[in-house]
Amino acid sequence: MIVQNTKQILQKYKQFAKKLYGQNFLIDSNVLNNIITYSKLSKQTGVIEIGPGLGALTEYLALAAKKVLAYEIDQDMVSILQETTRQYDNIVIINEDILQAELEQDIEKYCNDCAEIVVVSNLPYYITSPILFRLLEIAQIKKYILMVQKEVGYRIVSKPKTKEYGLLSVWMQYNSQCRLLSNVSANCFYPAPKVESALIEVLVTKNDYGLKNEVNFLKFLQGIFSQRRKTLSNNLFTYYGLQKEKTKQMFNQFGWKELVRAEELSVKELIDLYQFLLESDEIHD
Ligand code: SAM
Repeated sequence: MIVQNTKQILQKYKQFAKKLYGQNFLIDSNVLNNIITYSKLSKQTGVIEIGPGLGALTEYLALAAKKVLAYEIDQDMVSILQETTRQYDNIVIINEDILQAELEQDIEKYCNDCAEIVVVSNLPYYITSPILFRLLEIAQIKKYILMVQKEVGYRIVSKPKTKEYGLLSVWMQYNSQCRLLSNVSANCFYPAPKVESALIEVLVTKNDYGLKNEVNFLKFLQGIFSQRRKTLSNNLFTYYGLQKEKTKQMFNQFGWKELVRAEELSVKELIDLYQFLLESDEIHD
């Protein structure tokens, strides 16, 4: 198995792990087995893998799923991967930046015979948030099993009034049910990253909040969460020109204190606020 030969493969191809691309390869087969168990793949599942690297996880995925679409930005890794995974005929290697890839079209093209699409990845940590925001745009994908930096995992599942809670938490929890599956030690990777890791599950849910324009709601959230140290009232003034006196009255109606911060409000409260501002014509869809 590839997982047992990481250092030898790197040596053989005269490669080293590139920090620039967040390359920390999984070298622990227990972790790989856990990922596969949590992913609940079947021979009907199409898997999207972000950053296959040398192919340690890819190999496990190919054995468990119908098809694996593996997006790898690093041409050096792609050349190695083509050899390490040569024996599997259900892996499609795509040498692209995941953030630039035409995921919807690729799923259509390669996975139209799959019953479900699941993302399984040991993510490149330096672009975790942009990847999560991008994945949530893709309607065909309903489940992700992801290795993330532990801190980010905790941010994703955090509750209001904690220091971890912010835009990422709200947007993930608005769109999905997220849970931490396990903590993963830095020793399970080569080279060992400086941070600890966590495995998370994201189940995309169709919410019934009834917002017509979710892109605008996201923009609203980006505005009110942009300056963490400012009060909500200040951010509403900066981004929407809302007069302080009006905001004060509105917050009073909601039962919030004048100096409330966005980080203190639940997803539901933020939606209520957004809908109230729409209905009172303070902001527009
Ligand atoms: N899956 C392998 C494993 O678990 O051993 C490697 C995981 S490593 C943490 C992250 C991988 O993502 C690397 O192979 C890296 O080259 C790749 N990567 C980094 N940025 C990427 C991007 N924008 N698009 C696609 N792949 C990327």
